[in-house]
Amino acid sequence: SHVADLIAAGEVVERPASVVKELVENAVDAGASSVVVEVRRGGMGLIRVTDNGCGIAPEELPTAFLRHATSKLRQESDLGRIGTLGFRGEALAAISAVSRVDICTCPAGALTGARLHLEGGVGGEVEETGAPQGTTVSVQDLFYNTPARLKFMKKDTAETAAVMGLMQHLALSHPEISCKFIKDGVEALHTPGDGKLSSAVYAALGRDFARSLVEVSGRGGEVAVHGFVTRPLAGRGSRSMQTFFVNGRFIKSPLLTAALEEGYRNQIMKGRFPGCVLHVELPVTAVDVNVHPAKTQVKFAREKEVFDAVFHTVVDALEQDGK
Ligand code: ADP
Ligand code: MG
Repeated sequence: SHVADLIAAGEVVERPASVVKELVENAVDAGASSVVVEVRRGGMGLIRVTDNGCGIAPEELPTAFLRHATSKLRQESDLGRIGTLGFRGEALAAISAVSRVDICTCPAGALTGARLHLEGGVGGEVEETGAPQGTTVSVQDLFYNTPARLKFMKKDTAETAAVMGLMQHLALSHPEISCKFIKDGVEALHTPGDGKLSSAVYAALGRDFARSLVEVSGRGGEVAVHGFVTRPLAGRGSRSMQTFFVNGRFIKSPLLTAALEEGYRNQIMKGRFPGCVLHVELPVTAVDVNVHPAKTQVKFAREKEVFDAVFHTVVDALEQDGK
């Protein structure tokens, strides 16, 4: 229905960066080993995501853009209540509802691919076409039919920066995927996809940062920690270079920040904060990722266990490095 489409679009597609996030997640889900993201004018000119994943069968292409029927949402008056449900299976529908989309896709092993053009959620005919394996989704004229949203768009530079952040997180959480980001025709990030976290850090965060790192690896109880932390005097005056992933998902966590920084208490810091790329892995039952709709926050069932695992891993690594 029209109402449901509007809700879904507003929830999923807040800004260009949220379009990129959904398309990139689809590429990862498709098992891609290469993901290329191209953005012009902060995504308001063009967003194009190309992957070499499993592709979509031509006969399933129109279905991919359909919203799942939701029996709970029948009236406009229900609009106020859905803030916490979390919409899944709706990204392509929502994106295509508020833009012009071209999709070109070819499943593994298929001789020909298919393409489809949609405007404001309305699709044309699926056409046969030659294409490499994988999927390319191009999004243009974002919010062209929702003037209110268009009016409140942030500056292009803010959107481009947000997409750059997303791409860094993608690269650092999937070192096995070659990630490329092209902004306004210029390559801004390109990781080799060789499976090594160190390669991804070097390519995504830069040589200077990569050079200042100590590798960390440890475990406490059910919590495994691995990644890199900066040498004490290589830190910065802000926490901007602290990146945490919990079970592969980018997370902002005061608890993890505190555990990291406590690990430096015997170090000379001179007003600096440590930087890190830290992966924390724990059983899915020990972490609740749904405490925040944007899902960059988590709730740990046993906070002390997580704190101690990170803290001791960092302390051990810094001690070893100091010897
Ligand atoms: P969800 O990812 O939650 O299932 P989406 O609207 O994002 O919902 O995508 C709908 C469906 O389209 C997916 O379930 C998947 O089958 C297919 N799809 C979308 N993007 C891709 C892609 N890049 N590669 C392969 N299949 C895709
Ligand atoms: Mg999706």
